[in-house]
Amino acid sequence: MSALRPSNLPKLAVCPCYESNPVAGPAAERGTLLDTAFRAELLGLEERLVIANKLTADEIAAVAWSVSMVRAISGRERVLAREDDCRVRMLNLTGTADAIVPSRLTHFDLKTGARRNYREQMAAYALGLMGAHFAGEWTARLLFCDQREIETIKFTYEEAHDIVDQVVKAFNDPAKKPNPCEYCGWCAKADTCPALLAMVGETLTVTEPGFDFDVVLADPEKLGRFLTACAFIEGLHERAKKIATERIKTGGKVPGWKLVTRKGSEFVDCETVGHHIQRMGFGPVLAAYGNLPASKFRDLWSERMSSEKPFPEESVKHAAPSVYLKQTKTKPN
Ligand code: SF4
Repeated sequence: MSALRPSNLPKLAVCPCYESNPVAGPAAERGTLLDTAFRAELLGLEERLVIANKLTADEIAAVAWSVSMVRAISGRERVLAREDDCRVRMLNLTGTADAIVPSRLTHFDLKTGARRNYREQMAAYALGLMGAHFAGEWTARLLFCDQREIETIKFTYEEAHDIVDQVVKAFNDPAKKPNPCEYCGWCAKADTCPALLAMVGETLTVTEPGFDFDVVLADPEKLGRFLTACAFIEGLHERAKKIATERIKTGGKVPGWKLVTRKGSEFVDCETVGHHIQRMGFGPVLAAYGNLPASKFRDLWSERMSSEKPFPEESVKHAAPSVYLKQTKTKPN
């Protein structure tokens, strides 16, 4: 499958050499499952009940929220959700939107996982849909179902065309260069990409004696590059550990490394705890187990309580927000 397709455009906008990995990871598989559930719900298909059985209570709620948003925004207008009705063509590319409301000149796209940039993908759908419906402007609505947030992006025909055309031109440029970025971890070329490996090499050389870490820490530019390179090394580190483990297991050697057997940790299984819980007291035992993630409590509630008993939303507590460092989008030089 060509790398040049609408879903890849946001990645290609950052690195024109990006190539998606043919093996879908768990996050992508979850995205596809929720997409299927969303489509089935919108169309009222019988199989939606079978699909819902594969989802957690939290995921069912996420899909239900997304469907309710489509219904609220589309009102009584006709919503197209069959894959055949949602196929879109633009500038020699093809893709499939999740749902289209032609009379409102709008389409919806369900997104799972962290909020990311999807502007270029939405521009491609908008461009194709404007062409198909003879419209001069179009609205894309991204449904971030895990966050219960909507992002609305409006395009004129010219804007959408320019956005897509720019990415296509960069992709087709014979002189294009890879640009290490936040998408390298998903890229099929990660193991061989010269730009990525050069960046990793750069980080490795800074660990040589004589390397002045204080200079890196004092210079925002150097500090940013160092952090970026470290992020790539983390992914390569895991692969290197797996390969080294296999090599040593099969009689090979990796100088400076050996396999050691760690004693298994001691534990008491939950059946045994349950057997003693009456005498020990529920309070102290539950306190020792600690807090339950809200999603797990929701799952248990929907499995164990009758459907007439609504989930007590007021019981969900929120931990204090925390601050963390996130890599931002980097543009090619
Ligand atoms: S590994 Fe990163 S820099 Fe290299 S082609 Fe893939 S996305 Fe681009």
